[in-house]
Amino acid sequence: MISGDEYVKRLKEYKRVIYVAGKRIENWTEHPNIKPVINAIAKTYELAGNYAVFSDLINEKVNVLNAVIRSADDLIKRYDYQRELSLRLATCNYRCTGCDAINSLYPITKIVDEKSGSDYHKRFLNLLKEIQKNDFACTSALTDVKGDRSKRPLQQEEMYVRVVKKDSKGIYVSGAKIHQSGAFAADVNFVLPTQTFKEGEEKFAVAFASLPEDDVKYVLQNTGVQAKFREGGSFEMGNPKFGDRTTCMIIFKETFIPWDRVFVFEDLKATRDLLTLFACSHRCVGASCKAGFMDSMAGAASMMLKANGLENVSQLRQKLAEMVAFSESAHAIAVGGAVKGYRIAETWQPNREVANSAKVMGVEGFMKSLANLIDIAGGIPATAPSEFDLRGEIGEEIKELMRGSEKISPEDRMKIIKFIEFWAMSSHLVGAFHGGGSPSASLVFLQFLADLAKREKAVCDLLDIKS
Ligand SMILES: Cc1cc2nc3c(=O)[nH]c(=O)nc-3n(C[C@H](O)[C@H](O)[C@H](O)COP(=O)(O)OP(=O)(O)OC[C@H]3O[C@@H](n4cnc5c(N)ncnc54)[C@H](O)[C@@H]3O)c2cc1C
Repeated sequence: MISGDEYVKRLKEYKRVIYVAGKRIENWTEHPNIKPVINAIAKTYELAGNYAVFSDLINEKVNVLNAVIRSADDLIKRYDYQRELSLRLATCNYRCTGCDAINSLYPITKIVDEKSGSDYHKRFLNLLKEIQKNDFACTSALTDVKGDRSKRPLQQEEMYVRVVKKDSKGIYVSGAKIHQSGAFAADVNFVLPTQTFKEGEEKFAVAFASLPEDDVKYVLQNTGVQAKFREGGSFEMGNPKFGDRTTCMIIFKETFIPWDRVFVFEDLKATRDLLTLFACSHRCVGASCKAGFMDSMAGAASMMLKANGLENVSQLRQKLAEMVAFSESAHAIAVGGAVKGYRIAETWQPNREVANSAKVMGVEGFMKSLANLIDIAGGIPATAPSEFDLRGEIGEEIKELMRGSEKISPEDRMKIIKFIEFWAMSSHLVGAFHGGGSPSASLVFLQFLADLAKREKAVCDLLDIKS
């Protein structure tokens, strides 16, 4: 396993075409909107040791996010690691979707090869061993731009990533992925289909790995937090070290991908099975990730109570306790999903009903925790003057007027306020909601999975209902 510094050094060697706020940027690893993402990923390397697992592929310990998850214990280790990362970073760790891709591509390529004699699994293992040996940071791109959601992909091909050409060396893909967390700062980006497809739509049913040498363009999101990072300052942006949950659009234009990086090709069933595994994997861990965010919000709320001199008000302290209850419950659901999981093609997967419930409850907990945080903080996160006022010509007046409890300096109180502004107004709420699919998508899944007949029968037995 490598250090965060080694990851950053490697990243600097990649030539990438990245646009931010309308301009192509040079020296991309130093850009104020990208540096925090790199800092966040570098931190994942620093904290990886306690959660590393043994890989029987390379006979070494590896980052759990690059591991084939073989047991419930491995999966719980992953969930604990990601909860800690969310707390310490207060933003995305960016490597989570890489783990989901590894643990869905591994079983699916194996199953496909066993049925059809193809060599997708061998190709995948070759790449995975490189990922583990080099401790690559991996992300996953699923979400297509999709255009008019009522139309089928063939009615608007350009809205979906698809194979446009193939030859003996590989495939050529066009289309765009959107909402891609940290892909521009990854070593490997797995590209997976956005949805299942019907007969005739095979050209969209493709999964592959994209590497830094591939011809793609990245266009960064531009939230208020991003604008604040470009504006500068030391804490005005709320989370100065690790920043917003930063995503990008990735544009492919007849981008060449060699066959040894293609893992699903024109296979409708493999696409469906892959997406089911990926979705459940990502939705289950999402609850632990949100638990870490709720922990961070609880920490901020507790500090705000102290900064306002309200730390002994029991009805406000009760809100803190509620936040702890939300975060512990969300993490516990994910752990339950791991314990009640199942084995498929040498991997251990979370229980599917629990995973989708984890998504729903993780979002509920996140929203309630954010509401409690805002309740505790008062209106000031939306209305405070800036760090620049504090340092400018009216700085002394601002310092005086921004005083709270004597125990916390006005500047530190403003740091806490800006951090709470960050929680309330960054990409986090929307990200918690939609990352891994909306709660509505999980509820659709649960309608199919849930054994309602068993529940109905129990009620009928109880009440002696025969009809
Ligand atoms: C901060 C953030 C980070 C993200 N990171 C990643 C990432 O790293 N990788 C990645 O691949 N994706 C990522 N996502 C994307 C995420 O998975 C999608 O946002 C999610 O799947 C919803 O897709 P959408 O945003 O296109 O919404 P839409 O497709 O526009 O959906 C909006 C609503 O309509 C519903 N809906 C859509 N189409 C239909 C239909 N045909 N019938 C019925 N209901 C429908 C949806 O369920 C949802 O409730 C991220 C998203 C966010 C916000």
